[in-house]
Amino acid sequence: MATLRPAIIVHYHEISLKRGNRPLFLRHLLRNLERATDDLGPVRVRQLSGRILLDLEGNEGPEAVLARVARVCGVASAALAYRVPSSVDAMKAATAAVIEGRPFGSFRISARRAFKTYPLTSVELNRELGAFVVARTGARVDLRDPDLAVHVEVLPAETFVYADRAPGPGGLPVGTAGTVAALLSGGIDSPVAAWRMMKRGCRVVFVHFHSVPYLPATSQAKARALVERLTPWQYRSQLFLVPLGEIQREVVLSVPPPLRVVVYRRFMVRIAETLARQVGALALTTGESLGQVASQTLTNIARIDEAAGLPILRPLIGMDKLEITAEAQRLDTFEISIEPDADCCTLFVPRHPATRVGADEVSAVESRLDVPRLVALGCEGARGETFEFPPRAVANPVGPEASAGW
Ligand code: ATP
Ligand code: MG
Repeated sequence: MATLRPAIIVHYHEISLKRGNRPLFLRHLLRNLERATDDLGPVRVRQLSGRILLDLEGNEGPEAVLARVARVCGVASAALAYRVPSSVDAMKAATAAVIEGRPFGSFRISARRAFKTYPLTSVELNRELGAFVVARTGARVDLRDPDLAVHVEVLPAETFVYADRAPGPGGLPVGTAGTVAALLSGGIDSPVAAWRMMKRGCRVVFVHFHSVPYLPATSQAKARALVERLTPWQYRSQLFLVPLGEIQREVVLSVPPPLRVVVYRRFMVRIAETLARQVGALALTTGESLGQVASQTLTNIARIDEAAGLPILRPLIGMDKLEITAEAQRLDTFEISIEPDADCCTLFVPRHPATRVGADEVSAVESRLDVPRLVALGCEGARGETFEFPPRAVANPVGPEASAGW
């Protein structure tokens, strides 16, 4: 009987649409798959035609590897498979192993040949292996809505047989789209926005504004916990903790209450922009969604944009709160976000913020402030922290190598 070698077969979708850049996207995907699993024992990642193979020979926890792979951006689906030689007998042996112990009344074989010179067509393979399963189990063939679908992928050198495909996040591999700086509050929306950017191939650097010593440090603890939850999607994160309390204090002295929220936001984007440029980020990202609160009207969004010299990307702009909340729950950030805390926005926040702040109005009130000095104050007070997941399997090199980062 043929030996059944364990493997994971990874399919991607959007990457296959890229033409000239496909090798670059695939290189990132391969590297990210290696990074995502490098503490889980032997995993050898290899590119095959139209898919990626993770060779798990000698690996004792295939399920754990699969769970990690299913969180790599760019992966459309991943499946635990058996690798066998491309003979019908070996395929039967693998099919028997795949269906072993699974209760099912109906099934389908979905054979695909990645090269057309194989002596049997997909239809012939489906028939041959289908008859084998019927003889073995008595189950019935159902092409449309089977209890179990057995996939058989025939490649020139070998064949992969598997049943369940775990869906991946899709999108593009982290690192292919450049770096963005995400403004991360302790709320529900901004972690979701940051994740959306990762899914589009961005590496995300996080910027959190706090009001220590005017408020307790709970918001920083939340920001750290959120970054920890999001780091498994990009393996290494940087978080800047920026003091805003002093700036807010000065704003309160000269800016009328209804305009304050927009002025705070403009300071946030100016400081975030400076930090973004320091780490080579090309855009900012926020969790704003149109009309959700007073600062998120079109007029006020325009005022915020005018303070920024980098594009501000708002991936949640057209989503409503229920959709965002559902995504936060899927990402496991929701439970952290709803913990009570004293966010800097609760400090000195007026009861009735203006929903339509004019450009002249905002420049008039800001002319009473020393904006460059306050921005510099925020930037100088910024403290950076680094997060990694998974932890490096080998001793982590300390020194230039370790901090070379982005
Ligand atoms: P969130 O749930 O993301 O906090 P929100 O609905 O509470 O969003 P706002 O509080 O108006 O909305 O914040 C809008 C966006 O501004 C946030 O999504 C975030 O990107 C940014 N932001 C707000 N507060 C902070 C903060 N303390 N530090 C960093 N960014 C912030
Ligand atoms: Mg908020």
